[in-house]
Amino acid sequence: MSGATLAPQDAAVATSIGDNSIASYDVEAVRRDFPILGQEVYGKPLVYLDNAASAQKPAVVIDSMRETMETYYSNVHRGLHRLSQLSTDAFEAARDKVAGFINAESSDEIVFLRGATEAINLVAFSYGRAFLKAGDEVLISEMEHHANIVPWQLLRDETGIVIKVVPIDDDGNLMLETYKELLSPKTKLVAMTHISNALGTIVPIKEVIRLAHAAGAKVLVDGCQAGPHMKIDVRDLDADFYCFSSHKVYGPTGIGVLYGKLDILNSMPPHHGGGEMIDRVTFEKTTYKEAPHRFEPGTPAIIEAIGFGAAVDYVKNLGQERIAAHEHGLMAYATERMSEIEGVRIIGQAQEKASIVSFVMDSAHAHDIGTIIDRAGVAVRAGHHCAQPLMARFEVSATARASFGLYNTRAEVDALVAALYKVKELLG
Ligand code: PMP
Repeated sequence: MSGATLAPQDAAVATSIGDNSIASYDVEAVRRDFPILGQEVYGKPLVYLDNAASAQKPAVVIDSMRETMETYYSNVHRGLHRLSQLSTDAFEAARDKVAGFINAESSDEIVFLRGATEAINLVAFSYGRAFLKAGDEVLISEMEHHANIVPWQLLRDETGIVIKVVPIDDDGNLMLETYKELLSPKTKLVAMTHISNALGTIVPIKEVIRLAHAAGAKVLVDGCQAGPHMKIDVRDLDADFYCFSSHKVYGPTGIGVLYGKLDILNSMPPHHGGGEMIDRVTFEKTTYKEAPHRFEPGTPAIIEAIGFGAAVDYVKNLGQERIAAHEHGLMAYATERMSEIEGVRIIGQAQEKASIVSFVMDSAHAHDIGTIIDRAGVAVRAGHHCAQPLMARFEVSATARASFGLYNTRAEVDALVAALYKVKELLG
């Protein structure tokens, strides 16, 4: 059962896009796919607007994982018995699904890791240690998540690389002209977010990649926030590396993906050693498998990978363009309604934005906002969003962040807005 009723405007969103496929976006049907959404919190329908932190799971994902455990679970790759074959097939089928989801040329380009954080660390410590040396420059942006800052600092402390930061303007747009000026023959890698988790800014990543390549640099895209919200085509983007986590695309925690062009992956040394990643081991010397297995030592997250595969299938079946249009409508509506509340300031009004409204209120600290509206059943995130340098850029210590997913409704935006008026009443 759905936790929130459909506002009349939801139907309007569905049809105002003027596209037949969008017109058929039935958000109430979508909501029924997510068992958790029917519940109440403090006696109020749950309004889950914390999707940028982690998204809820549809029944098909839950079922795929339960079915794995109930019917054919076993360790993968190393067994000759029936269950091991079935598990291996399902695990590798999940890899194929993820490859298809981002239009990779080959499933061998899909490395299963614990998530985006581990993926960025793998690039830093495998690619970075092998190919970057003192004085080489890595460009990141001012709006990176800590996961795309700290690994480069660790690498800098070890190797003497130089980190340069591409600034953003007051609206949260990447300053493309400054980026062009920062690119030089010293630039060896650009590591940049596709969508900012704290602002919602969509970075013109194809252009960023084109310019980086023209300067002779490779590009790692942190696609953590893009995975759930837009169609990703790594070949069209010509990304060298692209990563995201399953749990934000409606899949389980504990798994994510690093895509890498195959020749680059195969040129990189393993990051961790262990079983499954080797070709031959003697006490004197070990040789390694090709990608992706050389980066997947030990028993992988088998059940989670299968759930991840089911999740990307779910998103793909619903249609990324339709999802993006639905979420864009919600974001625009939320921006409009929240702008009407006196004392609310939206942080991040980039020209291209997705699904996130970050804000502060004159009368209340972000944590107070989060705590008070929780009592109305509205779940948002409050804090620095693992982007402290970005918070410093906007001279705030924290923001409250409403982030929309494919199952959210305009009625839920109304619930958020009503809860914010309550905050004003109490504190303002
Ligand atoms: N980058 C961005 C832009 C993110 O939003 C996140 C998650 N908040 C991460 C990286 C890290 O992802 P994970 O915690 O799943 O490894």
